Amino acid sequence: MKNNAAARPLAPLVPGQDDPNKPLVELAHVEKHFGDLHVLKDINLTVTKGEVLVVVGPSGSGKSTMCRTINRLETIDSGVIRIDGKPLPQEGKELAALRAEVGMVFQSFNLFANKTILENVTLAPIKVRHMDKKEAEDLAMDLLARVGVDSQASKMPSQLSGGQQQRVAIARALAMRPKVMLFDEPTSALDPEMVNEVLDVMVELAREGMTMICVTHEMGFARKAANRIVFMADGRILEEGTPDEFFDNPKTDRAKDFLSKIL
Ligand code: ADP
Ligand code: MG
Repeated sequence: MKNNAAARPLAPLVPGQDDPNKPLVELAHVEKHFGDLHVLKDINLTVTKGEVLVVVGPSGSGKSTMCRTINRLETIDSGVIRIDGKPLPQEGKELAALRAEVGMVFQSFNLFANKTILENVTLAPIKVRHMDKKEAEDLAMDLLARVGVDSQASKMPSQLSGGQQQRVAIARALAMRPKVMLFDEPTSALDPEMVNEVLDVMVELAREGMTMICVTHEMGFARKAANRIVFMADGRILEEGTPDEFFDNPKTDRAKDFLSKIL
């Protein structure tokens, strides 16, 4: 399908707003070990369409592992994970298709170092979504403009600041039109002055209705953007509530202790 760049309206960032109460991501009784280490213990979590879930907790509590199980970068020992109602496929084409629905942004930006910014964003849509090159480039330029780095399109990743690279990583994930975005400490590796430029993009994405699961220590962001906070410690979800409930009235000693150290 060819489209006319000049007349073309911006495609919605968030596909399908048909059923607002539909669970997009469900984890039920998820268990995971690394050898003898029990890292996920009876994890039960439901994220509905358009919801912004912020996951907090001390280092080593299993936050990254939980995120990685959601697009099957890690397998689980038992339990069920469903994306948009479908259980996670084990392998093959179905798994690739599912991964395309779950965008992921990591602490380290993981851009392809030997490709331009534009190529970084067009690669997967062309390869996985079989988009034609022109269409993929138009989409990429739209997304790069939204995250404020369209003027950098022809540069190599190493020529950009960390904050700019992370915004490209977000555009690259969005180019696959994911149903849900996972962010695993996306600002932890950034110099302090670049943290807000990335958080602002995330806040905007949340405002547009993207379903998001964000692991972060940025409590200002959590207050502003989260619908719900999940507190993890030692592989378990210990608390779940609104930002006000969690920050103003934490129930467990673990959460009180955690908050006293970071606030
Ligand atoms: P968090 O993101 O909350 O800091 P992680 O999910 O990264 O926690 O880690 C949870 C626990 O699992 C930690 O004890 C960590 O050392 C361990 N772990 C994480 N990944 C692996 C792995 N690939 N092999 C063995 N242990 C791991
Ligand atoms: Mg982690």
